[in-house]
Amino acid sequence: MTYKFTCPDCGENKLEEIMSSVTVASEISVIQDGDLEYGEQTNSSGVVERYQCANCGYTVAHSPEELVEMLEVRSTTFAKKEDQ
Ligand SMILES: [Zn+2]
Repeated sequence: MTYKFTCPDCGENKLEEIMSSVTVASEISVIQDGDLEYGEQTNSSGVVERYQCANCGYTVAHSPEELVEMLEVRSTTFAKKEDQ
């Protein structure tokens, strides 16, 4: 089952996950004249803080379970509307 996110506030479809307490490791590829150049970044640990609209910041859910539930409810609502 595929769910599409549509922001209830602005109608955009971009969803983003906000995490806190994340440890980011950045590979240093070049050090030149005291400037660091960064290579690949990897994230580890971290806690999901919320899911929000990438466009306006509208908070959608606070956990993956809540997010799926929310998208399920909205998808059902949309499907019903289309049937009428
Ligand atoms: Zn939005």
